[in-house]
Order: sequence, then structure tokens, then C-alpha cells
Amino acid sequence: MNIGIDLGGTKIEIALVNSQHEIIYQYREPTIRGNYADTCQQLIKLIAQVEQTHNLFSLPIGIGIPGSIAKQSGLVKNANSTWLNGQPLLADLNRALGGRVRIANDANCFALSEALFGNAKHAESVFGVIIGTGCGGGLVINGQLINGVNGIGGEWGHNAMPWVDDGSLVNCYCGLQNCIETYLSGPGWLARSQRRYGVDWVDAKAIYQDFKQGGVQAQSAFDDYVFNLAKGLASIINIFDPEVIVLGGGLGQMLELYDRVPNVWQNWVFSDQIDTKLIAPKLGDSSGVLGAAGLWPFK
Ligand SMILES: [Zn+2]
Repeated sequence: MNIGIDLGGTKIEIALVNSQHEIIYQYREPTIRGNYADTCQQLIKLIAQVEQTHNLFSLPIGIGIPGSIAKQSGLVKNANSTWLNGQPLLADLNRALGGRVRIANDANCFALSEALFGNAKHAESVFGVIIGTGCGGGLVINGQLINGVNGIGGEWGHNAMPWVDDGSLVNCYCGLQNCIETYLSGPGWLARSQRRYGVDWVDAKAIYQDFKQGGVQAQSAFDDYVFNLAKGLASIINIFDPEVIVLGGGLGQMLELYDRVPNVWQNWVFSDQIDTKLIAPKLGDSSGVLGAAGLWPFK
């Protein structure tokens, strides 16, 4: 049995996963935001709760985080949960929990779980996308995660959105402008839609619900999202040419994307024929915890 944790910007999910890769217990609560020590305490508390409830102790723990661990320093980098950046999260948790913690990028965990256990199981090459609080990606080829020499393999959200010709410049927390994340993450899409349509939707979900109910401006905001996601993914297809692209994160639950985006991406893909499949995750929101649990071998 392994513990898998998906540490998101807005929610933390923890699961107990058995050697058949089945989730036998799952719990989720909002992430305590803004303070590194509080996030550490929350993780330690959740792990203790799971272990005590099931009377199972010293289990291997895998954690997917919205960023990665820098190879040289061991510190968190590139997290859009910015209070984690520069912090020795892996070392602190291993000190508190007895050296049984592994950490990987959340999009990598997601891509790996879908490639190994999910809807991309039989594909040779899989690009997994997380579109949620942030926007990231992970590349799996022949069942192997491509981590990269800098630990940023598949990272995609902080490239500039390609083929932008409207002159707009949007600042990203990373210090650059017009990052793909500022278009495709939930907060990015919300801010962009509020600017473009002057409607005070409270979050990305509210735009989507408005779209489902036929709201005219929300229809346009959704078309805009499809257009930008297609552009972003076209650049991935042009570089990696994966067999399957799987969309995770809250925005990946907008089912209309799976028909609409492939009808648009041929505008930018450098090929007359496009056989790339865009698919929904099999494991739903649970992909993250399964991929994280899979950072350790199952016993
Ligand atoms: Zn950025």
C-alpha cells in the first residue's frame, strides 16, 4: 500500500493505493494557502490521519506538487503556489516523516498515471496536460516519464501563447508576459474573460455554467478558450507529435473541449493529416494521487 497526495493550489487530495493500483481510501480538503509552514503541517496532519484511521504506518508517500524540486539545491521551483518556491519541502517532509517521501511535478504524476493505468495505456507517447489553478504538462514515452536534465520536461505553461496577433500583453507571476498559463489556467481564463466581456463571473466554473445555459458572452468566452487551447496544443504536436493528449485538472472536465479543440488545431499543426487523439482522463480527478502513489514501487 502506498500513499499518494496531490497538492494542488486550491485543494489537497490524499489516497491510499494498493498494489493493484486501486484507490481504497480518498479524502480531499482545501489547501491552506499562502504560508509554507502551514502547508507542511497540513500535509503531515493528513498523512497521520490516514495512517491512524487505517492502522497502517510507515507507508511510502508520493506527492505531486505544482512545481518541481531543483536538482542542485533540492528546493521547490516553478510552483504557481508561490509560497512553496525556494522552500526545502522534500527535506522538511522527509525529516518529519522518516525519509519515505518522494515528490514530483503534478502534471508529470498525472501524465504517468494515465499512461500506465488510464485511458492512454496503450499509447506509445502521451502528453498529459493539467489545466486547473495552473497550467503544466508531462511527457511519457514508452511508459517512461521524460523528466529532462533540468527537471522541466513537458513544462509548457510558461512558454508564450503562440500566434498571438492582437497586441495584448498580460503579466504572468513568473515575470514573463502572455504565458500559456495566463490563457488556459482557470484564473487566467477568468481574468481574460472578465477583461474581454466585462462580466463578473466568480470563477472559471461559473463561465462554463453560463456557457452551458446558453449565455451569449460565455459562448464567446468558451470559443476563445477552445481557440487558445488548440493553439497551445498545436505547438506541442509540432514538437513532440504525441499519439495521445490527455487533459486533466478542473478545466479538463469541460467535455465539449474533446470534440471542438481537434476541429480547430489543424490551423496551426504542420501536417495535412492529424491523427493525434485528445482524450479525457480515465481516472478523473484521481489521476494525480495515483501517479503520486506510483512514485514508489508497490509492494
Ligand atoms: Zn509565466
